[in-house]
Amino acid sequence: MSQGATSAAVVSVGNELLFGETLDTNTAWLGRKLATLGIPVVRGYTVGDVAEDIGWAVRDAIQVADLVLVTGGLGPTPDDLTKFAVANVLGRDLVVDDRVKESLQERFREQGMDGVPPTAYDQAYVLSGSEPLHNAEGTAPGIFLRSDEAIIVLLPGVPRELKDIVNGSLLPHLERLQRDAPDRVWHHVIHTTGIAESRLTALLEERLADVSDEERLGVGLAYLPDVRGVDLRFTAFGPSRDEAFARMAPLVQSIEDVVKPYRFESDSGDLAEAVSQILRERGMTIATAESCTGGLIAKQVTGVEGASDVFAGGIVAYSNEAKIALLGVSILDLAEHGAVSETVANQLALGVADLMNSDIGIGVTGVAGPGGGTEEKPVGTVWIATSLGGEVEARICRYSGGREAVRVKAGQAALAAVYRRLVDSTA
Ligand code: ATP
Ligand code: MG
Repeated sequence: MSQGATSAAVVSVGNELLFGETLDTNTAWLGRKLATLGIPVVRGYTVGDVAEDIGWAVRDAIQVADLVLVTGGLGPTPDDLTKFAVANVLGRDLVVDDRVKESLQERFREQGMDGVPPTAYDQAYVLSGSEPLHNAEGTAPGIFLRSDEAIIVLLPGVPRELKDIVNGSLLPHLERLQRDAPDRVWHHVIHTTGIAESRLTALLEERLADVSDEERLGVGLAYLPDVRGVDLRFTAFGPSRDEAFARMAPLVQSIEDVVKPYRFESDSGDLAEAVSQILRERGMTIATAESCTGGLIAKQVTGVEGASDVFAGGIVAYSNEAKIALLGVSILDLAEHGAVSETVANQLALGVADLMNSDIGIGVTGVAGPGGGTEEKPVGTVWIATSLGGEVEARICRYSGGREAVRVKAGQAALAAVYRRLVDSTA
């Protein structure tokens, strides 16, 4: 095995994950984190609090990946079996780690207790030959160890604790190992929105057909679609980031003009974050007037850290009365054109920017369904307007996929419209 890791597997432990009481967010979070190190997660397992099942998953994971992360079941309660199960698989003992013991004593002293309660004392046991990883958010340390076949890391299930350990000690440690690795996988991701996967694939494959195998230089391209857009992920194996990116560059360049109208820059892939970043850089603010999206856009924008600098406010103007009374939409226009119309979308965008005194206004009005569609305006018809410095632009969109998909797609399209206008307004 090389020093570093070329692939990872995640084993999530907990009955609550199988019963559907808790959604497994740890695997997704770990997948994204490891991708930034060039370590793809190639397999995920979910097992209950059953020692044999944990053992089975870990044994299997070691076969397919050289980094195995196990989350959950590290606590002090009798249903926490991860340490025993993994020790069993690897033929190791559980031994008291003095450093962990001391930090436990310290922690309980700070809480005004004399000694460590017997149940918590179990936390001081780690696998022989392992290294504990400090947990600033809880009592169970992470556990890092190497077997002949893989690096194995045990992490608590509580997301806050897991993140603390991964960000605080695991990632820096893995990064050091990765630097010495002879070959690893690198990704270059381009986020797009507003173009269907089938159309994007057709355009790009046509473009790439001209690129010879030699020019491809072992660079792979994957299309990763979801309801909000399509990510293009280029992959190259190589010893260094610079070398791998240099090989990906010609391909990325060759598709540049095709993706340009649809791409956006955001580390997390969140378009709201991309919009927020530009607004912040320019000292601008945004406000939303939403009908069919019911506040989704406001929720997304306020989900980005530091939103108060860029988000002025939002109104969910669902009824005609609300549109008229709160945002100054004209009764006559409503009667003449209907709520789902260009005129009303424009008035929503301008009205909310005016009301909130923001640089940008978004107005969204549409038929999310399943009812309410007409021949002229079928379910999925949405008008999206954006105002920038008092100048308003609107477009009509037609979405399929059911009520929730229509709402999510419309919200994304509204943010995309703002993003494009902001980007174009400097060009
Ligand atoms: P503790 O010391 O709290 O017992 P633990 O390592 O034993 O920690 P678990 O008991 O398995 O972890 O889970 C603790 C809590 O963390 C659970 O209530 C659950 O809500 C949450 N959790 C566990 N696994 C996951 C996961 N994969 N994704 C998101 N949340 C999780
Ligand atoms: Mg537990």
